Amino acid sequence: VIRDKGVTEWKYATCGYCSVGCSIEIGVNKEGTPVTTRGVGGADVNRGKLCIKGLTEAQIFQAAGRGAEPKIRNKTFEDWQITDWDTALDKTAAEFKRIQEKYGRDSVAVISTGQIMTEEFYTLGKLVRGVIGTNNYDGNTTLCMASAVSGYKRSFGSDGPPGCYEDFEHTDCLLAFGSNLCEQHPIIYWRLKEALEKRKFPVIVVDPRVTMFAQFADIHLPITPGTDLVLLNSLAHVILKEGLADQEYIERCCSGYEDFAAEVEKFDPTSAAKICGIDEDTIRHVARLYAKAGAAMSIWTMGINQSTHGSDGVCGINNLNLITGNIGKPGGTSLSITGQCNAMGTREWSSCSGLPGYRALENAEHREEIGKFWGVDPEFFPKKRGLFQTDIFPAIETGQIKALWVVATNPMTSMPNSARIRKTMEKLEFCVVQDSYEDVETAQYAHVYLPGSVWAEKKGCFTNTERRVNITTPVMAPYGNSKPDVWIFSQMAKRWEQGAKMSFPLDTADVFDEMKQLSKGDHRILDISGMSHELIEQKRGIQWPMREGDSEGTQRLYADGKFCYPDGKAKLMAMPWVDNNEVPDEDYPFWMNSGRVVEHFHTRTKTGKVGNCNKFSPTPYMEMNPDAAEELGIKHMSYVRLVSRRGDAVVMVQLTHRVAFNAVFIPFHFHDCVNRLSLGLLDPYSRQPAFKQCTVRIEHVDQK
Ligand code: SF4
Repeated sequence: VIRDKGVTEWKYATCGYCSVGCSIEIGVNKEGTPVTTRGVGGADVNRGKLCIKGLTEAQIFQAAGRGAEPKIRNKTFEDWQITDWDTALDKTAAEFKRIQEKYGRDSVAVISTGQIMTEEFYTLGKLVRGVIGTNNYDGNTTLCMASAVSGYKRSFGSDGPPGCYEDFEHTDCLLAFGSNLCEQHPIIYWRLKEALEKRKFPVIVVDPRVTMFAQFADIHLPITPGTDLVLLNSLAHVILKEGLADQEYIERCCSGYEDFAAEVEKFDPTSAAKICGIDEDTIRHVARLYAKAGAAMSIWTMGINQSTHGSDGVCGINNLNLITGNIGKPGGTSLSITGQCNAMGTREWSSCSGLPGYRALENAEHREEIGKFWGVDPEFFPKKRGLFQTDIFPAIETGQIKALWVVATNPMTSMPNSARIRKTMEKLEFCVVQDSYEDVETAQYAHVYLPGSVWAEKKGCFTNTERRVNITTPVMAPYGNSKPDVWIFSQMAKRWEQGAKMSFPLDTADVFDEMKQLSKGDHRILDISGMSHELIEQKRGIQWPMREGDSEGTQRLYADGKFCYPDGKAKLMAMPWVDNNEVPDEDYPFWMNSGRVVEHFHTRTKTGKVGNCNKFSPTPYMEMNPDAAEELGIKHMSYVRLVSRRGDAVVMVQLTHRVAFNAVFIPFHFHDCVNRLSLGLLDPYSRQPAFKQCTVRIEHVDQK
């Protein structure tokens, strides 16, 4: 049934939720109000399909909680006062300057997002690095993709997923780690199903839980939480031992083989099986299947990234693909599936971890190049990156950071150990929250609220999981007096003497031109100089690199076997396994795992306001094994209290054999729930939290 919703015009956009990057058309009525959405048939990514979030996305524009006006309040958090933009921005700039003068440049911090346009990330980076001058700037991608970034850099010498969705159509074996593709990235799952309908190949899913994707798989490996590296090293052990490695590729394209081979030698399947919980014959079988496939690919999501071994896990996946020669060929790749619609944009251009276009603060040539381009003294830039998001909060706790600018992210719900984060936020001398929704939980701690426009009220690009740069055109005027984020950053810059001297274009096409100029050069992997807003819209997205003069983008990186290290080789990483996780014990006998449901996105700032998303997934719940529940006298649909070493949360019980006897699962989207319990331990390379592995006990709600 197609309901007539009075659509008079369809406008092109890229879905503003997840990193799949579906091309979407938004139908507006004669009053110019978005009323419905549909997938774009000719688009390479989704070929006309959308998931429930994309299909209901028109409802988020005028949803309850949209911020229409800037607001301001005093230190004691009395009621908000509506104010004008000048007053709100003057107050923010004055507080930042006061605090920097009193405590030093790095006493203010900025945490951003994966939700705004790439051009806006670039502008924010210019403001933070070139004008405000704090080194404590990071994106919320540290909570989701930092381990993938770190692992790609360690293995290949640069960030950037090397493969593409079309690889499903060419692969002979798919190995998925910690990814519930069906619910997290439904349109990629549909692409995989389409490929399997044409040509059968084995799908192997590694996940402690029997997810929907695990049910669909040919082989499910229900691994012990936190032990992926053991399994990966053991798979490599079998491949080397049985002479199944691609020695020609290793010699031509890889360094570090001897150390790597010596390390994986220690992971024979018999001893690995005792740690990772997968029997030795299955480890051998999977290793053979993978190595003998003509082309094999691995995908992964948070099950790998959100761990104290996240970066090592990513390198372990890359190792597997390097030793089997499965990088840069059709159907052979290491493809991290990112989370947010523009998590890639922040990695590429925001300057969170360095300078724009994958440049490093540690590199004097890069500092010089950007300083000259922006008109900033290169000495103004720090010589190494500052704190990650997960280190910014402890620095607030110790008084090192006094002011915080939060852009389109919600740490009060998304950070681990929320009781500690709450106390930390109370210590700030000044906090500004910039978000499209004024009811976002973190705004409770803000002195100034800046209403940003939502994605389809402005023009700009997102980059998806397969490096495809796609565009959104404005569907309607910004809600109320909200403003595009690029406008907010540019107005803020003018309030500094240095910023007033620099160029901060408001038209994102002009910003894109700046980025193009900065991306040029034979040595640059991230080259977008052959793209333009018009061409991107015409082609429904283009994969970088696309160099000046190229007629197409690039489907796969490293197809020529040349990597980004100075010697042109990829590095095989030797990684010992150290068990540093919390593990079940007498006091806390259950593993707690967290993840997504298809209906919700992140902390529900948007989907929490969409009728059907809420109807299908209205409340937090916990999946529990029926046998364990019987032992504890717990009934289906009853409420229990979960207790960890950090806090407690009350949840409804769903009994299911999807989880093991000693494990529970909770969706992570809900405020004051899973992150009251989760563990704040960090990966040493990526500083990403181990959200996926902590331990809890279960109490009846009346039991204190
Ligand atoms: Fe949007 Fe992701 Fe759903 Fe596609 S799969 S419609 S990008 S939420």
